[in-house]
Amino acid sequence: MGGFFGVVSREDCVPDLFYGTDYHSHLGTMRGGLAVRNGQGFTRFIHDITNSQFRSKFESDLPRLNGTTGIGVISDYEDQPLIVGSHHGTYAIVTVAKLDNLDELAAAAFNRRRSHFVEMSGNEINPTELVAHLIDEGDTIEQGIQHAQEVIKGSCSILVLTDEGIFAARDYLGRHPVVLGEKSGSCAATLETCALPNLGYEIHRYLGPGEIVKITPDGVEQLAPPGERLQICSFLWVYYGYPASNYEGINVEAVRYRCGEALARRDDVEVDIVAGIPDSGTGHAIGYSNAAGVPHQRPFVKYTPTWPRSFMPQDQRVRDLVARMKLIPIKEIIEGNRLLFCEDSIVRGTQLRDIIARLFDYGAKEIHMRPACPPLVFGCKFLNFSRSKSELDLAGRWAIAELEGNQPDNLEKYADQTSDHYCAMLDVIRKRLGLTSLRYQLLDDLVESIGLPKEKLCTFCWDGTE
Ligand code: SF4
Repeated sequence: MGGFFGVVSREDCVPDLFYGTDYHSHLGTMRGGLAVRNGQGFTRFIHDITNSQFRSKFESDLPRLNGTTGIGVISDYEDQPLIVGSHHGTYAIVTVAKLDNLDELAAAAFNRRRSHFVEMSGNEINPTELVAHLIDEGDTIEQGIQHAQEVIKGSCSILVLTDEGIFAARDYLGRHPVVLGEKSGSCAATLETCALPNLGYEIHRYLGPGEIVKITPDGVEQLAPPGERLQICSFLWVYYGYPASNYEGINVEAVRYRCGEALARRDDVEVDIVAGIPDSGTGHAIGYSNAAGVPHQRPFVKYTPTWPRSFMPQDQRVRDLVARMKLIPIKEIIEGNRLLFCEDSIVRGTQLRDIIARLFDYGAKEIHMRPACPPLVFGCKFLNFSRSKSELDLAGRWAIAELEGNQPDNLEKYADQTSDHYCAMLDVIRKRLGLTSLRYQLLDDLVESIGLPKEKLCTFCWDGTE
């Protein structure tokens, strides 16, 4: 998905910018970038982080970065930040975005305005450059951002670094968070609040959906108020958000404990051990274990010394191999035991199938799986974290294809967790994965665990509602 961090300070901003951006590394695997502004102008570095960590790539750049304002990004796709010269003056821009109508917006730029795009190194239009084009259509940066928010389908949160300071804009429907942090003499804008405490910042406030602010050394000025409709991604809490982060004031780890508790409340299976599939399954498992009174143990441990981050090679076979190499089974804990695993979600299920087969090879008596959210039936249209995957690969969809021989028009009957169709879909998934039992979280329980009203949450990938 990607993440960003920006700092406006009365002192050198580079150390905060460097570490604050690094704290978004779990959100993206392709590119990292930093841009800093000082009296001489902008300095920018972009590196490929596919095979190495952000920090190791940027450490040697630090002596060449100095200034009091800067923005940084971990990008799951395109090169960022971009430095743009326009009628707004020179500015640097980073985005966390999915432009679902990129082709349509680019065609409009080509046809009506005879524009051109220069960031074509990946043979595709750089989405952040397209956002910059849209911003340049406004008389002011603020108007341009509002225009971009209105015409983009998908999602788009933006940081723009100018001579004046940083413009921070949250996605129109707030699919991802943007949060302001403050400490004496400095203000930060961040996607993940876990970036703040170790740098000495406290959460100042959460931007609302579509809200735009300008951050300068003198303070924060609201340029556009928040909109009424919020559709923050529920999956942030379940899966890809960092446990130490808060969104809308709600902590990720605490939600995962509540998800696990909810799963345990509805369960009657007898097991010897509760475990999480690392990493994001761990919080859910702790919640389950505490509620069920069954010990939480680790039948697998992750080999963190050389696999510290989400390394996502493009080739699926290499990805599966990496997933296998990361997790090391412990026979003494597995053998002869009835194991219950909590998992954040079952996306495609291929890696999970391998894990389950290995657990039985190591002597597990039973394996029960309890995903912390309902089955994924609808592919996400709003965030780009699953860009390379077809929605037909989702566990729910291949199970439906097996039941129906094709993809039916009416998927809602499978999303209804009280229907026979839903039960049949689960049974196909359970058998394909080789599980003793499979029981998913109820959507109502997930919503309750998060603690926001359902109408403020995006739950599209489970129930198809927009
Ligand atoms: S569809 Fe799913 S992953 Fe996408 S924004 Fe909505 S809840 Fe998040």
